[in-house]
Amino acid sequence: MLDLVIIGAGPAGITAAIYAARKKIDFILVSKDLGGQTALSADVENYTGYQFIAGPDLVAKFEEHMRQFAITFHNGEAVTRIVQKPGSGFVVESGKNSYACRSVLIASGRRPRWLGVPGEEKYRNKGVSYCATCDGPLFSKKTVAVIGGGNSALDAALQMIAIAEKVYLVDINPALGGDEVMRRKVETSPKVEVLNNAKTLAITGERFVKAMKIDVSGQARELAVSGIFVEIGSTPNSDIADFVDRNASGEIVVDCLNRTSARGVFAAGDVTTVPEKQIIVAAGEGAKAVLGVSRYLVQEK
Ligand SMILES: Cc1cc2nc3c(=O)[nH]c(=O)nc-3n(C[C@H](O)[C@H](O)[C@H](O)COP(=O)(O)OP(=O)(O)OC[C@H]3O[C@@H](n4cnc5c(N)ncnc54)[C@H](O)[C@@H]3O)c2cc1C
Repeated sequence: MLDLVIIGAGPAGITAAIYAARKKIDFILVSKDLGGQTALSADVENYTGYQFIAGPDLVAKFEEHMRQFAITFHNGEAVTRIVQKPGSGFVVESGKNSYACRSVLIASGRRPRWLGVPGEEKYRNKGVSYCATCDGPLFSKKTVAVIGGGNSALDAALQMIAIAEKVYLVDINPALGGDEVMRRKVETSPKVEVLNNAKTLAITGERFVKAMKIDVSGQARELAVSGIFVEIGSTPNSDIADFVDRNASGEIVVDCLNRTSARGVFAAGDVTTVPEKQIIVAAGEGAKAVLGVSRYLVQEK
């Protein structure tokens, strides 16, 4: 029986693996991919030690660090569920294997919701972004569109008001939702044009995004934009642990020691209720979680 299975190799899971290796915990790391959402970020400008680094390059640095240790890493393996075995730990199941363990660390992150329109995949990181906090500064004095009508879209629009020349807010609903204070700020900004009943049909460009085609109340329109922020929500990858407490958005509820409602199950990073979904926060949470796991294992033995 393993001491620990870490699920997910984004910043939280990789950092957790490094800490677990240094603590000589008997563990494995199981993940669908290496890098998680960080691999999707064109430019990271807020990870301490790097004024600028491309997301995939930061992931390569993380991997280089992790490979300094003899870590058993099952890359390309998706966990399908975690089964509690009362009195004898857990079994982590994937399509291929099942792993018995004393504790589990869920670091399975989130996935942005996609629009699913032509051009979206082609221009991802070439003008299409899912993170205004991260990529907004790249569009200084440009015209951009934010797609969505809830709090995350309002938040992105407010961030872009300070950076961009003009901001289209493209909302499929008849009226914006979200927080009233934020909504008022967005609606009263001279830089913002709110388009309600607006359905995004396609994203076009050459090497980078140049325009988007929309349907506004039955009228076809083309917006010339350099950047498009898709802010229609993201989903925490928490279904594998349906027995732990989750909030209304599906985030795993953790305390400040990264403990979940199930003893022996810890969680870290974007999959949790911890606010601020950022690389450095996820990495810190991964470290903190393993230190908690280490204490837990000592108490249990
Ligand atoms: C486009 C984009 C740009 C961003 N830019 C920045 C930025 O510039 N600066 C910044 O600080 N933050 C940025 N972020 C946010 C940042 O990437 C996340 O906060 C961070 O990656 C979260 O790390 P994590 O380890 O919690 O989860 P994730 O990065 O989501 O990693 C989760 C890992 O779990 C794996 N996984 C998921 N489900 C399973 C399963 N069932 N079985 C096995 N493995 C599974 C995934 O494959 C992945 O490897 C950006 C996000 C996006 C989407």
